[in-house]
Amino acid sequence: MKVLVINCGSSSLKYQVLDMTNETLLAKGLVERIGMAGSVLKHEKTNVEEKFIQETPMKDHKDAIANVMNAITDSIYGVVKSMDEIGAVGHRVVHAGEKYATSVVIDNKVIAALEECVELAPLHNPPNLLGIAACQELMPGTPEVAVFDTAFHQTMPPESYIYAIPYEYYTKYGIRRYGFHGTSHKYVAERAADMLGVNIADLKLITCHLGNGASVSAIKRGKCIDTSMGFTPLAGLAMGTRAGSIDPAIISFIADKEDLTADEVLGILNKKSGMLGISGISSDFRDIADAIADGNVRAELALKVFAHRVRYYIGAYIAEMNGVDAIVFTAGVGENDVDTRDVICSELGNLGIKLDLVKNKVRGKETVISRDDSKVAILLIPTNEELVIARDTYELTK
Ligand code: ADP
Repeated sequence: MKVLVINCGSSSLKYQVLDMTNETLLAKGLVERIGMAGSVLKHEKTNVEEKFIQETPMKDHKDAIANVMNAITDSIYGVVKSMDEIGAVGHRVVHAGEKYATSVVIDNKVIAALEECVELAPLHNPPNLLGIAACQELMPGTPEVAVFDTAFHQTMPPESYIYAIPYEYYTKYGIRRYGFHGTSHKYVAERAADMLGVNIADLKLITCHLGNGASVSAIKRGKCIDTSMGFTPLAGLAMGTRAGSIDPAIISFIADKEDLTADEVLGILNKKSGMLGISGISSDFRDIADAIADGNVRAELALKVFAHRVRYYIGAYIAEMNGVDAIVFTAGVGENDVDTRDVICSELGNLGIKLDLVKNKVRGKETVISRDDSKVAILLIPTNEELVIARDTYELTK
C-alpha cells in the first residue's frame, strides 16, 4: 500500500509518498508561498537527480494539494499511475489537546475535536485542518489519518503537566503542559532501543530534538514522563528564535518599558529571541558557528546559553528517572552540529556521560558517539517523523 504523508503549514506544505510494503520513500516535495505571489512546488522522485519545479499560482491549500496530486501522477516525475494507488493519507496535526493519545482515522467527530483545539494552537491547527478538508474534497473515499505532535506526551503524569497556577485554569481552559515534537521523540526512542538491542520497556532515555524548534523528553520504559515544551512550543530550551522558558514577570515588564502589548512581547519571544536574540546575528547554528570562529563574543554566549539549557534538562531528567541509559541527539542541530553536541556533553563525565570526540565528528548518520567507557550511551539518530506518520496511517487503514 502507498501512503501520502502531508504536513501543512500556514503558507507551505511538505509531502512524501511512501510504499509501506517495504517502507521506502518514493517521492517527496514542498509547496511554498501558498496564497501569495510566487507559489512554487518542488518535487523530487527518489533516485532521480533532477527536481520537478512548478511555478503556478496557488490561492489556497486545495490548489496546493491539487498540484501535489499532479506531480505524484506525472508521467515522468510521478510515482503512481493514478491517485487510486494511494491507499491512505496521513496528516501531521500539531495539537490534539487531551483528546487523543494515539493517531486516529479522521471522521467528522475527529474534525470537530480538532476544531475545538484551534484556540490551543491558533497558528498550527487551522492549516492542518485546511489540508484535511482539501484532501477530503480532492480524494473522496481515500481514508485519512491524523498523527499528533502532542499524542506521545499524553503519558506524562499530572505532576509533570500541571502548572502551579490556580487549578481551575486547567479545568476551565485546559492550561497544562502538552509537549510537542512527540512523533520525533517516539521515533528516536524506538530506534535507540533497536540500536542498543534492549527492550524499550527496560530503558530510561533522554531524547534531545534540537532543530529550529527544540525540546528534550524523558522517556521511561517507552513512555514519555516529562518534556521541555509546555502549553505552547515556546517553553523550555532556548531555540533558533524562541526564548524558551523565562520568568513570566518579564513579559509585563518589557510591555511597560517598550510600550508594547502582551501579544507584541510574545511575538518577540517567539520570533526575535533565542540564538537570534542573544547573538544579534542569526537563528541558524551554522551562522553562529561562523561568527564564533570570527571571535564574536555574543555568538559564543548564545551557544553557551543553548548548551546550558540542554544540560539543565538532561540533569533534571536524570533526577526524575533516577538514572539514564542513553541520551539521543536528533533534528537539524542534534544531527549535524558536532561542536554544539560537544559543548552540551562537556562536564558531564561524573554522571557517566562521556562523548567520544572522534566518533562525534559525524553528521546525519545513525551511530553511537559515546566513549566505550561511558556508562550512558550517547546516540545520534536522524529523525523520521514522516515514516512514523506513514506507519500509523498504514496500520490504521490497511
Ligand atoms: P525545523 O524542522 O524545526 O525547522 P530542523 O530540524 O530542520 O528545524 O533544523 C534546522 C536547523 O538545524 C538550522 O536552523 C540550523 O541551525 C541547524 N543545522 C542544519 N544543518 C546544520 C549543520 N550542518 N551544522 C550546524 N547546524 C545545522
